[in-house]
Amino acid sequence: MEKEGLLINEALRLGAQYTSRGKTASYIGELSKKDPSHLGLALCTLDGQIAAAGYSEEKFTMQSISKVVTLIAALEQNGQEKIFSRVGMEPTGDAFNSMVRLDLLAGSRPFNPMINAGAIAVADCIQGGTVDERIELCLDFARRLTNNPGLCIDRAVLASEKATGYKNRAIVNLLESNGVVDGKPEEILELYFSMCSVSVDCRDLAFLAAVLAGGGRNPLTGEQLVKPQIVRLVRSLMTTCGMYDYSGQFASTVGIPSKSGVGGGIISAAAGKCGIAVYGPALDEHGNSVGGLKMLEYLSEKMDLNMF
Ligand code: GLN
Repeated sequence: MEKEGLLINEALRLGAQYTSRGKTASYIGELSKKDPSHLGLALCTLDGQIAAAGYSEEKFTMQSISKVVTLIAALEQNGQEKIFSRVGMEPTGDAFNSMVRLDLLAGSRPFNPMINAGAIAVADCIQGGTVDERIELCLDFARRLTNNPGLCIDRAVLASEKATGYKNRAIVNLLESNGVVDGKPEEILELYFSMCSVSVDCRDLAFLAAVLAGGGRNPLTGEQLVKPQIVRLVRSLMTTCGMYDYSGQFASTVGIPSKSGVGGGIISAAAGKCGIAVYGPALDEHGNSVGGLKMLEYLSEKMDLNMF
């Protein structure tokens, strides 16, 4: 791990030069309280060793990275056919919270599960009792994928997002009217917002990324946590849609299946190699961490992680 340790420290030094170019997310008030100069990262090998640097233990919320967790849980529960009858697999080139395409044709379904509309449709597919029980089920799944049994929801961020989630409310209502979802809109959003508000650090997310990089196995115990065919599918969706309307450019500059969130985190799963998580709450205009992107570009090149 000595070489990885040196590289991640160098990545951090480089990334720090870019944080002033971004801004924290302000549409969820609680997220704007983070220090935009903070930056951290962690790398997890396929046998579970972790190297970390910077603010790698600062807590932040998963936000859109949770779309990966909920999608995997929904696929494990329902199978691919049901999920992909509700949501497509195509990139949009639109902002993550756009709903314009949902209203173009009667009955339109979301383009993919990595944008808000798609993730909200997927949240409706989670089965298992009351909404609180369904949230607990997804949270438990997140705990297993991150190897952190202490993972919990940041209640302040959840309240903040619920108070200002007008756009997501509009999306769920449009999905109801298009017949894409059949649960109660407020319950679907409760699950979606709760998963966005799961509090993590870079180490948690590097472990999750390593599970995805290693075909669904827990890197420490070898336990198969996710079916390999689901992992392959999810990695492909991360590649084509995981970085919102920056996914194409990201594929050419970094070339690792990745998913970002407006909390400032990005997970990258380099198949057969390692999992990486970066964190920096200063975001660019697409909602991706500016310092995080630079760190990933550097590591991809130096560690030969670009799959293209
Ligand atoms: N909770 C955020 C939202 O719904 C997640 C978006 C993101 O991380 N891009 O707007």
